[in-house]
Amino acid sequence: MPLISQDRWREAEDIAGDCFYDHTVARAQALAPLTGEHVADVVVIGAGVAGLSCALELAARGIACVVLEAKRVGSGASGRNGGQLLPGFSCDLDVIRAQLGDAPAREAWDMSLEGMSMVREHAARASDGCDYQPGWMILAARRGHVEELASWYRELSGPLAYGNVEFVHAADVGRVCGGTGYHAALVDHHAGHLNPLKLMLALARECDRRSVRIFENSKVTSVARGARLSVATAQGSVRCKHVVVAANVFAEELRLVPERQVMTVGNTIIATEPIDAALCARMLPSGYSACDTNFMLDYFRITAERRMLWGGGSTYLKHDSRDRVTMLRKKMIARFPELGAARIDHAWGGLIDVTASRAPDFGRIDSNVFYLQGFSGHGLNVAAIAGRITAEAILGDGRRFGVFCGLRHRAFPRGALLRRAVLSVGTWYFRARDALA
Ligand SMILES: Cc1cc2nc3c(=O)[nH]c(=O)nc-3n(C[C@H](O)[C@H](O)[C@H](O)COP(=O)(O)OP(=O)(O)OC[C@H]3O[C@@H](n4cnc5c(N)ncnc54)[C@H](O)[C@@H]3O)c2cc1C
Repeated sequence: MPLISQDRWREAEDIAGDCFYDHTVARAQALAPLTGEHVADVVVIGAGVAGLSCALELAARGIACVVLEAKRVGSGASGRNGGQLLPGFSCDLDVIRAQLGDAPAREAWDMSLEGMSMVREHAARASDGCDYQPGWMILAARRGHVEELASWYRELSGPLAYGNVEFVHAADVGRVCGGTGYHAALVDHHAGHLNPLKLMLALARECDRRSVRIFENSKVTSVARGARLSVATAQGSVRCKHVVVAANVFAEELRLVPERQVMTVGNTIIATEPIDAALCARMLPSGYSACDTNFMLDYFRITAERRMLWGGGSTYLKHDSRDRVTMLRKKMIARFPELGAARIDHAWGGLIDVTASRAPDFGRIDSNVFYLQGFSGHGLNVAAIAGRITAEAILGDGRRFGVFCGLRHRAFPRGALLRRAVLSVGTWYFRARDALA
């Protein structure tokens, strides 16, 4: 089976598909691309949650910001994700604790919650609230996962004093989720879900209100380093004092971020036709979004348009997109047989920037170039707070940004063959681990 190619732009095109969210918004014409020479305090590369959140924080403090986006606002992961707004990180907090110690790990956790609040505030500015709905749950996919879930519940309600969670035993799971074969649920009343493309457009509007200059179809081709930086696109350039690289899986291409700390993983989502309201209420009585406990996890939610949106099937290998859709549909029907006759109206995907530990990877090159990557599939809250703490660092207070800089990241192997071996083994190891639990 061929590997996904190393050309990440082509990978992104290959997996893009027909994103349901594109059908829920009326987008204005594309913003003009960068032409000619410009000057700014800060150039942000990438108009995803990380980039726009950073630009907005800076602009609110009077800093002149330019955002350069290769395609359109939200065309990356931020406008095509599962829309689940969750606390914490992709990795267990223990991964961060083991490297940084208790107090910094606790601070990182608190920042992850601040990121959730930021997203909620941005969403609330839109007239439709970006379809935000409260609640999320993790469902034990196998009996062997129940204790792990219970232990996470004890940590959340004990030491972390999160206070918004409820542990639901097997006999009672039907109260929160009508899917078959789940062995327990950890319900989080504080988390939520929304339409991520609407969120991106709301963020862009707020940026515009704050005089951030956003240029679409403006792919950065090079950054000349030094005390004064110069950022070039095909038709223009910007001289500036600071650069923020918020380009997700494409960052490596700019040869600014450390090499091979992020691996690209494809993830796919399907959306059914609109479903009868009574059936929706039976499948997810709470209206909460959900994911399961598998390492190669499935996640789902019912959208404001009453479509079941089912995502997962992270793949390190290239599969035909029809295979991915068939596989996801099969998984969905296994849990919700009532959806057997539901038409699949949309299928799309995106690329996830995974680090070896799944902890986020933020850093600083020279004193004036910052990078934000490695959200590992859990980026709505983390990218939002990443933008804020990067802005703080640019404004002279790098303490909170520094918490994450303490994390060390293992590089993935150099060379296609070795990487291929690691990626294939990774896939099969985690599938086997999920199956055996
Ligand atoms: C299918 C899928 C489902 C997911 N589900 C969830 C979820 O439910 N909850 C959650 O919390 N997280 C989820 N995630 C992860 C989350 O979407 C990401 O972590 C987050 O959006 C990353 O934001 P970002 O700003 O770093 O990257 P992006 O949103 O990808 O933005 C980066 C931008 O940089 C631009 N760019 C790249 N290179 C250049 C260049 N050279 N010049 C100019 N612009 C450039 C790109 O075009 C892109 O628009 C999911 C991700 C995927 C793919």
